[in-house]
Amino acid sequence: MYNPKSSTAEEFIDHNEVLDTLRYAQDQKNNLELMREILKKASLAKGLTHREAALLLYCNSEEINRELFALAQRLKQEFYGNRIVLFAPLYLSNYCVNSCTYCPYHQSNHQIRRKKLTQEEIRHEVIALQDMGHKRLALETGEHPLFNPIEYVLESIQTIYNIKHKNGAIRRVNVNIAATTIENYRKLKEAGIGTYILFQETYHKPSYLNLHPAGPKHDYAWHTEAMDRAMQGGIDDVGCGVLFGLSDHRYDFTALLMHAEHLEAAFGVGPHTISVPRIRSADDIDPKDFPNAINDDIFAKLIALLRVAVPYTGLIISTRESKSSREKVLKLGVSQISGGSSTSVGGYAEPEIPEENTSQFDVNDSRPLDEVINWLLSLGYIPSFCTACYREGRTGDRFMSLVKSGQIANCCQPNALLTLKEYLEDYAAEDTRQKGEKLIRKELERIPHPKVRALTQERLEDIHVGKRDFRF
Ligand code: SF4
Ligand code: SF4
Repeated sequence: MYNPKSSTAEEFIDHNEVLDTLRYAQDQKNNLELMREILKKASLAKGLTHREAALLLYCNSEEINRELFALAQRLKQEFYGNRIVLFAPLYLSNYCVNSCTYCPYHQSNHQIRRKKLTQEEIRHEVIALQDMGHKRLALETGEHPLFNPIEYVLESIQTIYNIKHKNGAIRRVNVNIAATTIENYRKLKEAGIGTYILFQETYHKPSYLNLHPAGPKHDYAWHTEAMDRAMQGGIDDVGCGVLFGLSDHRYDFTALLMHAEHLEAAFGVGPHTISVPRIRSADDIDPKDFPNAINDDIFAKLIALLRVAVPYTGLIISTRESKSSREKVLKLGVSQISGGSSTSVGGYAEPEIPEENTSQFDVNDSRPLDEVINWLLSLGYIPSFCTACYREGRTGDRFMSLVKSGQIANCCQPNALLTLKEYLEDYAAEDTRQKGEKLIRKELERIPHPKVRALTQERLEDIHVGKRDFRF
């Protein structure tokens, strides 16, 4: 029985409720009057239910789709302006006891070289990341009780936060590790993580069980209820996501929104972010084996729909997506991207040797970070390295109320300019620096509050003379 407040996976992601929703959406897909009503509701920027969003997903009317894309762009602009937050993944270890059929780290892949970074190797990786200009990381590791216990993850977080190299600093460490216990989530919280990220992969239980035939991840309930345990352990910023293409995207899209509704109903705070990876090739993985893989048009529509359905949730895309695909979806609602990424264990400090491949997926946007920053600036976006909210204690419902009221923009805009300025001073190539300075001058004028504008100006000058780490 469907119950968004329930703590049982199969009640808050009720299979019959998903199927009923999809049937209803199929029946009503040509009801343009209903679609217009839903778009009108969405334009109030209060979000949509999973049923309403599914209806729009099924609707093939060009006119409705045009309106949907225009609305997504408008809401993106209202909530996030033209800022794009940058981050990088950091792979600690690819030892894994799971058997996910779509991931080359699955335990029976004997072609891949297994590697786990020592604390000294982590230092080298982090220094390489700091030297690019990164301030925000997402830690990634396979699940292995012997090689990657929670103590290893905690020690690594401490190592990362303690590395101060030139003007560099990692100011926010998000963590993407396997579903674990409330006690371990509490330890992660105490270690000062930003967001806890866990992709559901697919919510469709029969597909989930097939795709994860062995290992602890085979337990659908344990995995699906992980965010509840994370919240109970005190982590109030959680990041959800599915790997689109593993199963029917309409099913997963609907269930993903049901998961967001569940977190809101049970804990008063929805997901901090939603990631939208889709099946891509990697060592031992051929996307042709996945008949549900989605094309660029569906991918763009899913992003536009997420933007209007959960306007207060950050949307993340990785370098799995190509430059052109990223360019298309940035304006539709994406608020965070990775840049200059390596998906290998140890790949920042030492370039990967092809025969010793340890990467989790092929990177389709392999440009160095400075090229990505230059590209964003050319498109008129403000690349931001901001990590202010978590450091100011603006997390969970406190953060959400600021986002929902639109007040967060008063912090995001100046923080984006200040962190961009740091990047330009410390890491940028000359052309990027010139473009960035020009953009900062223009965007400074757009800060509405005179006091905030004046203080930002003052801090920009302080950064120029060597001071660092200001935030609103
Ligand atoms: Fe292991 Fe994660 Fe890859 Fe599954 S997706 S095999 S859990 S690293
Ligand atoms: Fe993100 Fe907060 Fe910085 Fe805005 S001020 S970019 S919400 S960390």
